[in-house]
Amino acid sequence: MGLLIRFARQWVAGETLDEAVLAARAANARGIRALLNYLGEHYRERGPVEATVREYLGIVARLRDAGIHGDVSVKPTQLGILIGREYALAQTIPIVEAARAAGGVLWVDMEAASTVPDTLWVHERLFEAYGRVGLCLQANLRRTRDDLSRLLDRGAPIRLVKGAYRETPDVAFTGRAEIDREYLAHLETLFREGRDFEVASHDGRIVARALELAKDHATPFEFAMLKGVRDPLKADLVAQGHRVTEYIPYGPSWLPYFTRRLRERPRNVVTMLRSLVSG
Ligand SMILES: Cc1cc2nc3c(=O)[nH]c(=O)nc-3n(C[C@H](O)[C@H](O)[C@H](O)COP(=O)(O)OP(=O)(O)OC[C@H]3O[C@@H](n4cnc5c(N)ncnc54)[C@H](O)[C@@H]3O)c2cc1C
Repeated sequence: MGLLIRFARQWVAGETLDEAVLAARAANARGIRALLNYLGEHYRERGPVEATVREYLGIVARLRDAGIHGDVSVKPTQLGILIGREYALAQTIPIVEAARAAGGVLWVDMEAASTVPDTLWVHERLFEAYGRVGLCLQANLRRTRDDLSRLLDRGAPIRLVKGAYRETPDVAFTGRAEIDREYLAHLETLFREGRDFEVASHDGRIVARALELAKDHATPFEFAMLKGVRDPLKADLVAQGHRVTEYIPYGPSWLPYFTRRLRERPRNVVTMLRSLVSG
């Protein structure tokens, strides 16, 4: 397990807020904004949800006090969406209020397709009441075309990703080529109609297309990538004058996040096995 944690640290800042703050400082030193996520998901009891809310309030205060350029990104199922959407909304409000008071944006991650309707419901209410609440949309989901156009109409900040959850063909595109095609179509829409969106991908072809679109559209946007992935590309984009954000997760419940990262890039499994063998 110790070796596994060592390998996971490529993507996870550590188990404590202190370690996350160090990673956020390191990102800022490279000209990159930090986006902190406290790991944990699928809570069906109020205890862990309410502890998670306290942790996020602590993060926002630490970022502000330490003068770090950064925001937080929350997962709906860690804030109680599986208990009830009204409950999740009530739990998220204090975090939005704290983020807003600190001058930041609250980002909401998107999880499995079954949670999307309630997540949109919570986001809509938060955005109407507070503004400055961003939402992740997944290009693999068939419904995203409609969701994107509704969110653009409202002017909400959007983070576009390919989608990290295994879904069935009735709700999702499942082939790589189809997902990429959808992503690129949404990217065009965002550059045409959006502002303050995040191009969240490590895919060189997607980054290149965004750079091309940025030449024709003066809309403000940023690139977003995960901690531990494509650091030279991040540096390159910063050097070209683009805004870059790094998503930095931390906390003791790192295993599901770690598993998703291994799954999306088989080469990671080979690298991990090699590093485990060589100690
Ligand atoms: C900031 C951020 C936030 C996210 N939030 C969510 C969320 O809320 N919900 C959700 O479902 N998903 C989220 N994701 C994950 C996302 O859905 C994808 O699973 C993940 O980003 C992998 O897709 P990709 O676009 O990077 O491309 P992939 O298809 O994984 O990779 C495409 C290509 O990128 C290149 N590449 C990728 N990794 C590397 C590497 N380490 N070194 C060199 N080249 C590499 C390779 O050329 C690869 O073939 C988030 C991702 C980011 C970056």
